[in-house]
Amino acid sequence: MVKSILDINVENKSILMRVDFNVPIKEGVINDDTRIKAALPTIHYLLSKHCKIVLISHLGRPKGIDLSLSLKPVAERLSELLKVNVQFSRELVGEESTKLYNELSFGEILVLENTRFVEGEKKNDPILSNQLAKFGDIFVNDAFGSLHRAHASTVGIARYLKAYAGLLVKKELDAILPALDKPKKPVLTLFGGAKVSDKLPVVQNFLNKADTFIIGGGMAFTFLKSQGIDVKNSLLEAEMLGEAESVISQAKKLSKTLILPKDVVVSDSIKEPSEIKYVKVTEIPEGMIGVDIGSETLSLIKKEIEKAETIFWNGPMGVFEVDNFAKGTEQVAEFILQRQVRTIIGGGDSVYAINKMLQKSNLTLPDNSPIHLSTGGGATLELLSGKELPGISVLEK
Ligand code: AMP
Repeated sequence: MVKSILDINVENKSILMRVDFNVPIKEGVINDDTRIKAALPTIHYLLSKHCKIVLISHLGRPKGIDLSLSLKPVAERLSELLKVNVQFSRELVGEESTKLYNELSFGEILVLENTRFVEGEKKNDPILSNQLAKFGDIFVNDAFGSLHRAHASTVGIARYLKAYAGLLVKKELDAILPALDKPKKPVLTLFGGAKVSDKLPVVQNFLNKADTFIIGGGMAFTFLKSQGIDVKNSLLEAEMLGEAESVISQAKKLSKTLILPKDVVVSDSIKEPSEIKYVKVTEIPEGMIGVDIGSETLSLIKKEIEKAETIFWNGPMGVFEVDNFAKGTEQVAEFILQRQVRTIIGGGDSVYAINKMLQKSNLTLPDNSPIHLSTGGGATLELLSGKELPGISVLEK
């Protein structure tokens, strides 16, 4: 088990903390501050212990310095949320950052500029990690969404400072790891979304752990095609046909239940639909695209959710961004909310669907809810595929 800031004495310490402030931003306006809010519990805790806090994060995918991806608006938003002054350095490492750090008092916060403005970040350059390590006595990693990246700011710093998990990372690991290691049976997994190649390592890791596999969303059509079904214009990852077929036969050999859609909603277009139909998967009309799962499939899924004691869900069941094609995803979210067993939901889209259903019914998930909404996209997927994440390996045990 990794150690977190709750396992050590942080009183009056200088803390260098990696956070995930990779928020959607356009012309300096933050469209969604969920990730900034997710870092607040750890920041509040460290402030209550009178720490000096230096925050580092990447934002977007800049190639060199790109001021449209500056963390300055994020520092300002953080200041508004915390209702305290937050300092900002226009560089990651260098004279300005060092001066601001030296002048920073205990109980104050400094945000450094985007880690990806510096070349050494993605290369996990030891010189950069060493420079960063000068901004604290202890390294805290609370960037759950970046734990799968071996960069200077996520992994390299741990060569020079002892590294501990922040409260967000702790919360995620406390929810996901026990569900993975010792899940209560039967275990149900639901996969959806567009990319088979992203999800397949997770499906494979679960072949021995889970009892039932439901495959929906766009990825289902590659699985259906591998069984000889003509999916017409539906999404297809042709190069994954062999792998899809192999997963189906492995599941059969292991006597697992694997459910593919029996009926689907089809449309002539995703963006500008003029014709929408409900058909069996074997009867998709020429030129049409499968865009959501149908009601027969939903009844099967409902029954499986009602039986399950542990549920993993990753990826929407259809093109849920379009209202007409959102029913499958929303219904699955609703069934899961009704079931109330240990559930791990990963992937922004499935989390969005649950939040939408909660909003509709004017509900929020309580802190002790068995349903965990994971904040990491790629990091959650890699954790669920059984990989050792580099950002976790370097944390104190
Ligand atoms: P992913 O990032 O792989 O989880 O994919 C999420 C995306 O999958 C969402 O933008 C959905 O619109 C898309 N998606 C889900 N079902 C389908 C489908 N049947 N056809 C095309 N795209 C889909």
